[in-house]
Order: sequence, then structure tokens, then C-alpha cells
Amino acid sequence: MLSYLYILFFFVLGTIIGSFLNVVIDRADTKESPFKGVSYCPYCRKRLVWWELVPILSFIFLKGKCSSCRHKLSWQYPIVETITGLLFAFVALRFSRFSFAGPSLYLNINFENILILLNFLFLLYWVAVLIVISVYDLKRYLILNEVLIPAIIISFAWRIILGFLIEKQSFYFLPYFTHFLGSQSFLFGYYSYFSSLFIGIIFFSGIISLLAWATKEKAMGWGDALLAFFIGVILGWPESLIALIIAFLIGGGVALILLILKKKTMKGYIPFAPFLSFGALTVILFGDIIIENYLAFLL
Ligand SMILES: [Zn+2]
Repeated sequence: MLSYLYILFFFVLGTIIGSFLNVVIDRADTKESPFKGVSYCPYCRKRLVWWELVPILSFIFLKGKCSSCRHKLSWQYPIVETITGLLFAFVALRFSRFSFAGPSLYLNINFENILILLNFLFLLYWVAVLIVISVYDLKRYLILNEVLIPAIIISFAWRIILGFLIEKQSFYFLPYFTHFLGSQSFLFGYYSYFSSLFIGIIFFSGIISLLAWATKEKAMGWGDALLAFFIGVILGWPESLIALIIAFLIGGGVALILLILKKKTMKGYIPFAPFLSFGALTVILFGDIIIENYLAFLL
């Protein structure tokens, strides 16, 4: 019972954060700060009252229309809120101390538990960043540098600090929360924390940069290469290799379907950030399950 409430809590938290991500995406065009001012209808600028701010439910009650000007509201709002809610619930399910070793460990405040909690908050932050970048790329065919560059700096700093702490002191539980492929990652060889981090960054951003350069930004852009750098920072190696394979498989499949349907987007350009993000999120949430099932399939 408690665990259901716990997962529900992270779903609801995710929908609230998702609602804020919609504001970030909308205000990126107008250069307004998403942290300041009140929420309003994007068409008639009517101030929203409290119940119109309730994620997902307000969209259903309003039947997708503004209560004042009756203008149709974008499906972006409930979709982003729902996806953020689901992903937050999945991250909580996989990486919280609760699901791993029981609630009593929350009461046991020690240095390792604090690091696990901080890393968990970073995971939620990375999910939010990948959602904003993907949705904005789908809408505008652009990578939102205002969000991505600070995210790279903050996340890189965290990964470096964590690495020094791990090298100084051996932790018992922490590796479980930072290795997304689980116990099977040794199949790719042994890599120290820092070699995994730097190989991941160089590999992922290197491949995408090469593609951007070789195709003169037709298949992928320099924005995608910057996103690849970010994903390299959060995943490391060999996780980033699996994420890249998933991104290419799904991206290639979708491109093929669009080609067959002759549905071309903007001179045949397909935004690639959603596929890179999808690959990264799949590895974060299901990396261990994928590797184990793949091995079971081979053996
Ligand atoms: Zn309106």
C-alpha cells in the first residue's frame, strides 16, 4: 500500500514538474523567464485560476479549450505532463532507496545515503532536461542551448565530484545507482569510474559530431552533438553505446516509415533529439533488463 502511494507521489510530482516544463518550452520563444510572473492563456493572456493549473485534469475538464477565449489548447500540455509523471514514477521505482532496500534506510542518514539521494535528484533533473530538449526539437527543429549548456556544466561537475568521492572511499550501495547496465556491464570489460565517464563522452559526442560533419548537418546537427555530449556525461561507457544503438534503431525505423508514407518534415529533416533522449532514457530505466534478456537470447 505504502509503495503504491510512494509511486503515486512521484507520478503527481512529475506532472507538476511537467507543467513547469511546458512553461519553459513556451517561454523559450519569447525569452521570458519561466520562473517569474503568473501563468496565462497563450492566446488571450487571461490569467489562469488555481484549478486551471492542475496538471492533466484541468485539460480534461476544460475539454482542451481556454475557459475564457475558447481557443483550442495544444496537446503538448497534457502529453508532456503525463510523460514526465510516468518517467518520474519509473525513476522512483528503479532508483529510490525504498524500492531497493526498504523504507527503514531513509532513517539511516549517512554520507552514502546522502549521495544516493542527490544522485536520485540528478536523475529526475536529467529526465526533465531530456524532455524539454526533445519537445522543443520536435516543435522548432532546434536544440535549446539555454537549457542544455547549464545542464552539461552542472551535471559534469556532479559526475566529477562523485568520482573523486568514490575513488576516495568505497561505497556499498552507490554503484547500483550509477551503473545502468547492472551487474552485466562487466561483459564490456572493466572500466574505472573516470575512464567510463570520459570514454562515454568522447564516444557519443564523437560519433554524432562525425555524422553532423560528414553529412553537412543534413542527418544530424551540431546541436545534436552537444546533446550527445550531455548524454555521454550522464551515461558513461558502455551505457552510451547501448543508448546509441537504440537511438539509431528507433530513429532509422521511424525515418523509413516516414519515407514510405512520403511524409517529409522540413525538407526531409527529422529531429533527432527525441531519439537520442529515448535511447538514453531506455538505458537509464531498463538497461540491466535489456542486457540480461539479450544474453539469455544469445545463450
Ligand atoms: Zn484564452
